[in-house]
Amino acid sequence: MRVLELASEAVPFAKTGGLADVAGALPEALARLGCQATLVIPAYREALASGLPIESAEMAFEVPIGTRRPVARILRCTPPGGRVDVILIANDDLFDRPTLYGGARDYPDNAERYIFFSRAALEWASRQQRPFDLVHCHDWQTGLVPAYQKLLHASSPALAGARTVMTIHNMAYQGLFWHWDMLLTGLDWKYFNWQQMEFYNQLNLLKTGLVFADAISTVSPTYAREIQRAPGGCGLEGVLAARSDVLSGIVNGIDTETWNPASDRHIPRHYGEQDFDDGKYAARVALAARLGHAAPDARPLVAFVGRLVGQKGVELIIEVLGRMAGAGRAHFMILGSGEAAYEQELQRLAASFPGTVDVVIGYDEGLAHLVQAAADITLVPSLFEPCGLTQLYAQRYGSIPLVRATGGLVDTVVDTTPETLHDASASGFVFEGFAASALEHALERALALHANRPAWQGLVRHVMRLDCSWAASARDYLRLFERTLAAPPAPVV
Ligand code: ADP
Repeated sequence: MRVLELASEAVPFAKTGGLADVAGALPEALARLGCQATLVIPAYREALASGLPIESAEMAFEVPIGTRRPVARILRCTPPGGRVDVILIANDDLFDRPTLYGGARDYPDNAERYIFFSRAALEWASRQQRPFDLVHCHDWQTGLVPAYQKLLHASSPALAGARTVMTIHNMAYQGLFWHWDMLLTGLDWKYFNWQQMEFYNQLNLLKTGLVFADAISTVSPTYAREIQRAPGGCGLEGVLAARSDVLSGIVNGIDTETWNPASDRHIPRHYGEQDFDDGKYAARVALAARLGHAAPDARPLVAFVGRLVGQKGVELIIEVLGRMAGAGRAHFMILGSGEAAYEQELQRLAASFPGTVDVVIGYDEGLAHLVQAAADITLVPSLFEPCGLTQLYAQRYGSIPLVRATGGLVDTVVDTTPETLHDASASGFVFEGFAASALEHALERALALHANRPAWQGLVRHVMRLDCSWAASARDYLRLFERTLAAPPAPVV
């Protein structure tokens, strides 16, 4: 199968979030399953400065964007050790910038930038000799691609027979722009209606993708259900419910080489299921030194690693710390950065409970690995979570995730009960309501089990064995692609 993957960021070229991990890893995993995968991304400054062997493909063409015709230069690269051809769409006016999307404020021309990228990517594809079977788009930045494939490339030999799949990584980001940006798309105004490209008088690029794609996926089965109703659908629940027959969820894999306690360069002693106690102890010694403590703490270590934003349930953690830290039954470690109010409140708690609450504000990849290796319990009390990676990293490092029952957390963590312990399906602790009391109750359950060493050790060994590699997810994507190819294309109304 010949698959074209289109994304606005991908490791190792450019990254702001989890999308880059997926767009980097999935094409490689598909290639290992026998697909011929090509990935197309913008040639950002960050990508060009990455040191990767990027070359000119000796191809350039104009792309009509409203009344302008900016030039797309085509670059190509196969990362060392990789099997996937990566095509980079270059235009220095649009992509040679300090950040990908503009930082605190989006770049004012983001509509133009990603309309250009989407149109140029398909133009490049249409010039290829061998036809593509499947075009796989990620998030709003490529939302126009399914429409372009159907409306502009209906007679391109390389694209006419292809099917399109639109994957949603987070419904909270839809690519909403003022209605006049419709002129930039080059598509007929007749498509600017409430059933296709319009959303309350604005142009909605994600909605466009959801309407025109032959199939839709998102990053977990539970999130696929949640987005078909409010508030999960963020206003597009009706559009998604109307397409429920072609909507499915596939949990992301993780990079099992980078996140591997048996070879991780960020931890002092490598470990596996058999010797995790030793490995975790060594990690705690290193963590204590890093935090300026004389000796590692003997109490269970409860950790949080993530963005300090409302989505992640930080307010619940703050409330629970206020209630539980005084009792001193556990040691808490928070690593994150985000909203100033959360950062300040957490630092205040650290000052109030020295030695019991440690808070490191900042983004530190190496420390994140060390914390997961040292931790016994990792908190993921999210308000919503399309897939979530932290709980998967925690499991691999033998830290038991304690999560709220939402999105991908439901699909990857089985609550520990006498029954699930007995049938060996338990893989963490789960609580339902978005309330500090619910988190606290789950944490009490976890700490009680931690005191029962044989039971805890059995649980740790089990979660460390779980398969969360990309190979399993890529197999599911391949099945989705095969299903989509076997079905007729979505009609254009
Ligand atoms: P999201 O993509 O919504 O932030 P995920 O759980 O899918 O949440 O992925 C978050 C990733 O970012 C994890 O790999 C986590 O370890 C990492 N991360 C988040 N904040 C930090 C931080 N302050 N330092 C190091 N790693 C972090």
